[in-house]
Amino acid sequence: RIAVQEPAIEVVAEELVETPEPAAKIVAEEMVEAPEPATEAVAEEIIARPETAKVVAETKIEETNKALEAKNTGGVTFADLPLSVPVQEAVEKSGYETPTPIQAKAIPLVMEGLDLLGIAQTGTGKTAAFALPILHRLAKDRRAAPRDGCRVLVLAPTRELAAQIGASFRDYGRHLRIEVATIYGGVSPRAQRQALARGVDVLVATPGRLIDHMGAGDAKLDKTEILVIDEADQMLDLGFVRDMRRIVSELPPGRQ
Ligand code: AMP
Repeated sequence: RIAVQEPAIEVVAEELVETPEPAAKIVAEEMVEAPEPATEAVAEEIIARPETAKVVAETKIEETNKALEAKNTGGVTFADLPLSVPVQEAVEKSGYETPTPIQAKAIPLVMEGLDLLGIAQTGTGKTAAFALPILHRLAKDRRAAPRDGCRVLVLAPTRELAAQIGASFRDYGRHLRIEVATIYGGVSPRAQRQALARGVDVLVATPGRLIDHMGAGDAKLDKTEILVIDEADQMLDLGFVRDMRRIVSELPPGRQ
């Protein structure tokens, strides 16, 4: 069923891509290992500033393990990156000595504020590859989280993954004063509504429950600074493309 659905999603996504041709190409040309065609088309649609977007690919878990064992990722160290001090401290406390290949590639670009399509297997350190530079950006530009909204929105396909990502942000952000909230279905929306009302720095959400909160007027995304879509390919497989579009349409155009 997914095999039937995917080309259709791709066609619809292509029709709706608003970005001009040359900009959209940048994403495809720099592709090292091609992701699923549907993922690529949707990424082109969702990335806010394709003219500066980059693709980083690190699909090999073996390469990741080798780099960590040898404590050498092409000579790139955490000290080279350089993340703000509270984030570096959290990295040390986590026991990470060497950045993984996806981290070495993605962290400097995200720190700079660029848009990114990252392609990496589970187990290659991809969560930290986006969480660390995002926390760095929050640390560098401290401001109150917007009421009824968030500074960073992370979309995840399942509640298990959303909970894991939330835990990682809390862990890596332990030396920063940041509020992290997770929002997913299957539990009462009350505590989620209360957290949103106060405003959160990092909101990790599954699309369906977030849309429920948006519909109820509890979640306003117009002040969101950074969007992450984790496991975008699985989001498409699960049929979330419409929800993703709806959510993305509420974000301000200048977001990362
Ligand atoms: P992920 O690919 O995000 O699921 O991460 C896989 C595992 O790698 C997690 O348990 C992380 O704690 C761990 N990890 C992430 N980055 C590093 C690193 N630079 N060094 C050692 N372990 C790491």
